[in-house]
Amino acid sequence: MKKVTLFKGDGIGPEICDQVVRIINTLNLPLEFEPFEVGAAEYERHGALIPAAAFESIERNKVILKAPITTPIGKGFRSCNVQLREKYDLYANIRPAKSLPNVKTPFANVDMVIFRENTEDLYVGVEKQIDENTVHATKIITRRCSERIIRSAFEYAKEHHRQRVSCVHKANILKLSDGLFLKVFNEIKEEFPDVEANSYIVDNVCMQMVMHPEKFDVLVMPNLYGDITSDLASGLIGGLGLLPSANLGDEYAMFEAVHGSAPDIAGKNLANPTALLLSACMMLDYLGYHDEGEKVRAAINRVLIQGDVLTQDLGGSASTSEFTDAILQAL
Ligand code: NAD
Repeated sequence: MKKVTLFKGDGIGPEICDQVVRIINTLNLPLEFEPFEVGAAEYERHGALIPAAAFESIERNKVILKAPITTPIGKGFRSCNVQLREKYDLYANIRPAKSLPNVKTPFANVDMVIFRENTEDLYVGVEKQIDENTVHATKIITRRCSERIIRSAFEYAKEHHRQRVSCVHKANILKLSDGLFLKVFNEIKEEFPDVEANSYIVDNVCMQMVMHPEKFDVLVMPNLYGDITSDLASGLIGGLGLLPSANLGDEYAMFEAVHGSAPDIAGKNLANPTALLLSACMMLDYLGYHDEGEKVRAAINRVLIQGDVLTQDLGGSASTSEFTDAILQAL
């Protein structure tokens, strides 16, 4: 029996997590979840965001399914997500944004996959108070981390018969740091002569993604740009409730929705569970259950096409659990 460490998160986390587990359990796979409380409530209770038993579970199972966790803004503890990505060297954050059937947006045929470097850049969290009115934050870009994320993006493109990999950077201003990322991209693209390669400055890419989303296929970029452009990409396909992600390292893997804990709708059974469910499908692919992942994706599509049971973010009035019931029926 394969075990998966499960973090139920907080805010809308537990609501969507319970529904996703219901669906995955219906598949009757030799898979078992080991659930843990993590995040702010656990911090209040025991002074640690992630209990020691949860770390032990991760180290045994090597695979995590994680619901969103609240991070205090401008004060307090460091993000749980950033800690996990660092500790388990989950360097490739892969975020596929694909138009879904019958989800009305001004954009058609969006099908892009963002590869976000997940371990460095401004996310190293090195901030220094120089004086009351001045703070310095450190941006770190290394050849080693740039090489592995860029190579992952090209390998993915090759394996999935994708045409193009685009590098996103700000090397016109950050000549050394983003300059190094772009330089490494230009070196690695030579190893993949069958994949087209081009590059965009990050501000330009935001405009182009909105004006011509169909131009984008696989994109690779440093951490912060990946965080921002993937929320933009979620807007192109109908909102944050729809965008899944995988965080992959060489030994560990963590699957989570791109969205956060949505405190504005938490506890109301209103959240869309699709992003976490599609993340669980990416986990099934990773564990070798590709057919089962496709089966769940097809059930989601059938419910969207039918269109009479949709959550509020998709223009409907169904609750999280009613939407899940419809997916279960469509399986
Ligand atoms: P958010 O993603 O939680 O919410 C942004 C907006 O999108 C809100 O209006 C929310 O209601 C809506 N939304 C998000 N997910 C939805 C869903 N599944 N269904 C329907 N609507 C949905 O972003 P935020 O409000 O900026 O952040 C809230 C907290 O989440 C912060 O503490 C932040 O640090 C944390 N966060 C955690 C993760 C994570 O755990 N991976 C990721 C991003 C943000």
